[in-house]
Amino acid sequence: AKQRGKANWIRYAPGMEKPAQAHAQLGGDLRRALDAGEFRLVYQPLVDLRDGRVVGVEALVRWVHPERGTVPPIDFIPAAERTGLIVPLGRWVLRETCRQAAAWLAEFGPDALRKASPNVSVRQLHDPDFVADVRAALADTGLPANRLVLELTESAVLRGHQVLKVLHEVHDMGVRLALDDFGTGESSLSLLRAFPAAIVKLDKSFVDNIEVDEPGSAAAGARQAVARAVVQLADALGLDTVAEGIENQEQADRLLRLGYTVGQGYHLGRPVSAEDFTALLAAQVRH
Ligand code: C2E
Ligand code: CA
Ligand code: CA
Ligand code: CA
Repeated sequence: AKQRGKANWIRYAPGMEKPAQAHAQLGGDLRRALDAGEFRLVYQPLVDLRDGRVVGVEALVRWVHPERGTVPPIDFIPAAERTGLIVPLGRWVLRETCRQAAAWLAEFGPDALRKASPNVSVRQLHDPDFVADVRAALADTGLPANRLVLELTESAVLRGHQVLKVLHEVHDMGVRLALDDFGTGESSLSLLRAFPAAIVKLDKSFVDNIEVDEPGSAAAGARQAVARAVVQLADALGLDTVAEGIENQEQADRLLRLGYTVGQGYHLGRPVSAEDFTALLAAQVRH
């Protein structure tokens, strides 16, 4: 059942049970990869839709496998979550994001980059060392807490008291929290009241085709309505917004008119290496 194609070497047909042995093997591979330093971060800009300036950066993990090449997160994050390896991997992602962001701030000054965001899995929030890890990552790299934004998916944070307690502790440090993929999870409204979020990221599924204005296109109309409702909700609760997955200028224009001032997506900038992101910041500082 295991496919051997380069791009999908660990993907399985939908619904198929994944053999326990393959699981265990992938878990072992991931452990070895972490020890061997095979993970890399790529960086995607968050851009002010009004003037095109980079205001933040999201760090996205890649596995640069010696034989298989670059493996995307969809092919190993689920296994890392199941095996628990997401805890040490996520710790590395957090630390490396803080280190790189602190280096960019030192090189380009405090106005060059307002914030840097790693993704955090719910499994990490259940790790008893999580709060201490965040504190240590900031202390050791010198990144000010208010420059760090942790991205969490809605569903991930719905799981009760302990997680909320952890999130409040991180929030009390001055670190901000973003609700990722907003609009796709359950009970967004009740969650927003309990959760110390500062930012909501409108999911790409509401951005796709949002520029289409065909009369009678109920789907496009519904996406516009959701996008508008999310920005109004965020305004009412004092939250910032980011619209993700922007692939053309028409979408950027439409979202700006709906009230979004910050966007992310291939049209605004693809995820790139640290070196290429450094060049992007350098070009911006010269202007
Ligand atoms: P996400 O957090 O929602 O990240 C956005 C994903 O959308 C990224 O995919 C990014 O490359 C992609 N993207 C950005 N703009 C566009 C666009 O305009 N069009 C399209 N089609 N795609 C766009 P990527 O890097 O493959 O990551 C996929 C998911 O894997 C992430 O979704 C996140 O949930 C997870 N992930 C990535 N890095 C990490 C990590 O370090 N830790 C954890 N726990 N999860 C991660
Ligand atoms: Ca994210
Ligand atoms: Ca997202
Ligand atoms: Ca996502």
